[in-house]
Amino acid sequence: MTVLVFVDPEFPAGRPADPSQPQLSVLDQGVTRGDGVFETLLYTGGAVRKLDAHLARLESSAAMCELPVPSAQAWRSAVGTAVAAYDAARSAAGATEAPGMRHEATVKLVATRGPEGATHGTAWVTVSPAPELGQRQRETGLSVITLDRGYDSEAGDRAPWLLMGAKTLSYGVNMAALRHARKQGADDVIFVSSDGHVLEGATSTVLLAHREGPLKRLVTPTLQTGILPGTTQGAIFAAAQSAGWELGYGPLETQDLFEADAVWLVSSVRLLAPINSIDGVGIPRDRELHAELARMVDGIR
Ligand code: PLP
Repeated sequence: MTVLVFVDPEFPAGRPADPSQPQLSVLDQGVTRGDGVFETLLYTGGAVRKLDAHLARLESSAAMCELPVPSAQAWRSAVGTAVAAYDAARSAAGATEAPGMRHEATVKLVATRGPEGATHGTAWVTVSPAPELGQRQRETGLSVITLDRGYDSEAGDRAPWLLMGAKTLSYGVNMAALRHARKQGADDVIFVSSDGHVLEGATSTVLLAHREGPLKRLVTPTLQTGILPGTTQGAIFAAAQSAGWELGYGPLETQDLFEADAVWLVSSVRLLAPINSIDGVGIPRDRELHAELARMVDGIR
């Protein structure tokens, strides 16, 4: 079940449409060139999580692409309409929640440059059930392989047209990396720059933790490497800081991952997925650190 609402200046609450019917021009540059930006959010327990942080990142991705996008207020209204319609469709279908199991849905915001020559772009919101694979990986953990991203860690500064750090629709490379990992029998990837810096997953941020006596330290790669600023990483860091953890920002090398007490891939829908092995080598999975971070993730709103 998917619900679709276009962000449309003529419809202040958004314009609902049928996702099973053709809705987008084949000339839309989001389709023909991957020219647009997007965000993926989690809707669960009646709340869309971290909406402000996602809207801020969408604005910043759009600014890097010089792409006009709807106002935060227009997105908010369309998201409200979409999740209300999703809840209504689930109730009408008789969906019930198993005890202790909260239904999880993915909310996607997409903005494109619109058809060639158009005066404005196209923007829409969809709500669909969250993929079960991601939910399972929170429990089972992941095997990952490291993959060369093909750029050095300073490419983002030197070549801003690469749009590193923007969440654009051009995810063909990220999806190819995931297919490559799966052919090797792995679940996911950690990209490494050509000069040896740990970057990010295909659709996630890398976090690692160390424990020394009572001291707990959480580290993530520095944004200066051109990675996407993760909203989940940001929220976990804020919670960890309040809980007295030390925070650190790379640069990190692959060896740092093997020397940590736990390593995770984190993202808005998959949340906190512990890594079991990297390049076929098992790594520590400190269960107490995981349980503590999982409680922080649960508290993110
Ligand atoms: N890095 C990349 C390349 C991503 O695609 C994503 C999410 O899709 C993330 C990091 C994690 O971002 P967030 O925590 O905001 O979902």
